[in-house]
Amino acid sequence: MAKKAKTVEKKLKSALDLTWKDMEVGNILTESGSASLRRTGDWRSQRAILDKEKCNKCGLCWLHCPDAAIDPCEDGYYEIDLYYCKGCGICAEICPKDAITMIEEEEV
Ligand code: SF4
Ligand code: SF4
Repeated sequence: MAKKAKTVEKKLKSALDLTWKDMEVGNILTESGSASLRRTGDWRSQRAILDKEKCNKCGLCWLHCPDAAIDPCEDGYYEIDLYYCKGCGICAEICPKDAITMIEEEEV
């Protein structure tokens, strides 16, 4: 009974009162590095195309890509790894030189 009352009390908390300790367990990473096994590029509906002619090598796209799908090259430029690029478009938004364009996969 006390346990049930505690559960109800927990549910009555407003969203702003919740902390990470109140949240139920969702996904769990069972081993480090396992994210690299996920071929996130398979989800993509849009493809990021990088134009080196416009790129100033600032690295902002590399820093902001949530899937670490942008690799630095020896010449200082960057290339997009389509195995992992899921087409979110963050790199295109952050690029100060408009060097990255998102195009529909169907157009490739
Ligand atoms: S953010 Fe744009 S300019 Fe900077 S490295 Fe990436 S592609 Fe090049
Ligand atoms: S579109 Fe998204 S996942 Fe793909 S390279 Fe750009 S930031 Fe990374």
